[in-house]
Amino acid sequence: MNTVTPKEYKKVAARSVTDPVLQKALGSLQERLGPATRRLYENLPEGHKLRPIAHGYRRKAIDNLDVVLARLVENVEKNGGQVHFAATDTEATQICLDIARSHLVKRVVKGKSMVTEEIGLNQVLEAEGIEVTETDLGEFIVQLAEEAPTHIVAPAIHKTRKEVGQLFAEKLGTAYTEDPPTLTWDARKALREKFLTADMGISGCNLACAETGHITTVSNEGNIRMATTLPKVHVAFMGMERIVANLEEQQSILRLMSMGAAGQQIGGYVSYIGGPAKADHPDGPEEFHLVIVDNGRSKILADEEFREMLCCIRCGACLNICPVYGKIGGAAYGSAYSGPVGAVVTPLLFGVNDGADLCMGETLCGACKQACPLEIDLPRMLLALRNKVAEGDPEWGAEPKSTVEQVAFSGWALLNRNRVVYEWSLKVARLAQKMLPKKDGMITKLPAPFDGWTKGRDIQPLAGKTFMQSWKERKQRRGE
Ligand code: SF4
Repeated sequence: MNTVTPKEYKKVAARSVTDPVLQKALGSLQERLGPATRRLYENLPEGHKLRPIAHGYRRKAIDNLDVVLARLVENVEKNGGQVHFAATDTEATQICLDIARSHLVKRVVKGKSMVTEEIGLNQVLEAEGIEVTETDLGEFIVQLAEEAPTHIVAPAIHKTRKEVGQLFAEKLGTAYTEDPPTLTWDARKALREKFLTADMGISGCNLACAETGHITTVSNEGNIRMATTLPKVHVAFMGMERIVANLEEQQSILRLMSMGAAGQQIGGYVSYIGGPAKADHPDGPEEFHLVIVDNGRSKILADEEFREMLCCIRCGACLNICPVYGKIGGAAYGSAYSGPVGAVVTPLLFGVNDGADLCMGETLCGACKQACPLEIDLPRMLLALRNKVAEGDPEWGAEPKSTVEQVAFSGWALLNRNRVVYEWSLKVARLAQKMLPKKDGMITKLPAPFDGWTKGRDIQPLAGKTFMQSWKERKQRRGE
């Protein structure tokens, strides 16, 4: 469970950069997945055009969301499923709770789902006395550890084998081991019993297909298939944007998603789930419910500047390349969504003021856009958010920055526009820097409010002469 909020970004990030275990884990994740994804993009049989084409598929679905959602609902119902729309997180969890109550559910097994983490579903069900078990191995580990996932697709990346061994010994009563296959086997045994006795299965939805009324899930463990077919009731959650118009478009996007998420051509298990079991089916749930969650997405849809964000398929490729995520990990973002995608989505969904540090913390290097299978322009949206943080925007409930900061930046602008003031301020700074502590010719500590800069590095002092002075002297020497 995530107890960190986006407001604690700086504090948690500062802690994370000094955690050697986390640094090693993040380094190896990015070394492995970033290049693997890039190689797959370079060797796409359809060539480089597939990514912009897939972006176009998503954009078309988002631009016509009312139409494609209506078609999805029609086809899910034709398949025998029930569809529920939830405007808020409270409505979404209440719908699930009502279904659980009507079936006297005591035990739930869950496949990995970002939107259920966003709405805090586990906590609501647990408060009702319902046992919820995450069945994705990484999610299972962080649930046992009572921690928050730190990566969209690799939730337990921050945990060592030793920590997992100790955790399993303590919580599952297994013999301590650090051997990954044995640990996986221990988790498998514990989960098998949960699958067989669960009254309800909950899953997310990687992409729903309006044309067929199917939802599709992708995993590498096969757990989602068990969670969605063994219990009598299956409740699937999807953000209202996770939809494509037809199977052909869905297929291209799912391939790109697997490349971005895990450097794979396609995930190990791709399941097309189309409603409850039919009379002649040997297995499958008796009831299928699809909960379509808005929870702030309509507001994003209505703003042309941020609408593109709804094209995101939560593959995590942008995390696997981001220099900031690669140092601070996922916990600092204080929401289900971390990395560059979290730096845009979290302020948009949960408040620009509260999430201000997230968008200010990114480097705008552009690596996320290059790594994104759909080439979503995250840097552009990060800049747009920064603008709202600086200027304020009543539409987004964004307060302008403090008067002190505004005065400081107006002063900075004045200084840079007026040559005389600029030159005088450099003279003053050059004199003042003589009083600052130095080592090997570098300034080791700046005074407040600039001291943040020298907390992690030294700074080069200002040169004795400006470029303009040197140029003038040179011209004088040459008699020009
Ligand atoms: S922004 Fe792109 S790379 Fe990042 S999670 Fe979304 S789809 Fe994947």
